[in-house]
Amino acid sequence: MPELPEVETIRSQLAERIPGRTIARAEVFDEKTVSPLEPVEFVEAVTGETILAVQRYGKYLELPFSSGKAMALHLRMTGRLHWRPGSADDGTRFLKLEFAFDDGSSLVFGDMRRFGRAWLLPENPAARREYWASKVGAEPLAETFTAKLLGKLLEGRRGPIKPTLLNQAIITGLGNMYVDEALFQAKIHPLRTAGSLTRPEITALHRAIRDRLRVAVAQGGASIDSYRDGLGERGSMQDYLKVHLHEGEACPRCQSVIVKTKVAQRGTYWCPSCQPEP
Ligand SMILES: [Zn+2]
Repeated sequence: MPELPEVETIRSQLAERIPGRTIARAEVFDEKTVSPLEPVEFVEAVTGETILAVQRYGKYLELPFSSGKAMALHLRMTGRLHWRPGSADDGTRFLKLEFAFDDGSSLVFGDMRRFGRAWLLPENPAARREYWASKVGAEPLAETFTAKLLGKLLEGRRGPIKPTLLNQAIITGLGNMYVDEALFQAKIHPLRTAGSLTRPEITALHRAIRDRLRVAVAQGGASIDSYRDGLGERGSMQDYLKVHLHEGEACPRCQSVIVKTKVAQRGTYWCPSCQPEP
């Protein structure tokens, strides 16, 4: 499932290619992708629009148009967004949407399942800011995301740390894989009570979250399942995972055997020595 680094990889690739381009033609191949709009309404709304930028809010992408309108996209579990220099008719599987630009290039949205979505955002800038504020929590790669802020976000929380970090309303963009990796790096057990972390632990966790996300962005994301980047290529972060998917293998730090348990219904990988049980 695409997490923050995967969506950021796609964002930066599209940001180099599509701003300034006008949508000459749009096609909807699955009405569910643009629901509750009718495909014809969606096509009418985006056709002729010129893309100003490609922005990211957590795992959401926003494409503001020069008219003041804007489109949002979410890949959910298995969505893919690929830019092509030419026409999109290149065998992209499970095609849901296609945007053909005025220079002959195109953007295609494929999804082997039917969860990925594209929709239009409020035109009023204040309303749009409010919309995003209601949808996404703190952005862990933003300069404003300090250890102090992380401490504040965790303060008083009585749930375990792992599901707390997965809660998109608190911190946005972190999924199962990067939470496992960050908790391992910070030597924190996934079932520790979120509000019980000490100041040094919060500092270590803050550093670990940012470090793992930055490395993942630099590696173009992780292609452990269906993820491909904005150009259809695989990322390489899967080669840099230390505990996630490494059940039964030696911990790279202490050589203990990495275990897998369930935490909040999610397969969770951790080192019993580095991350002592609470
Ligand atoms: Zn270890």
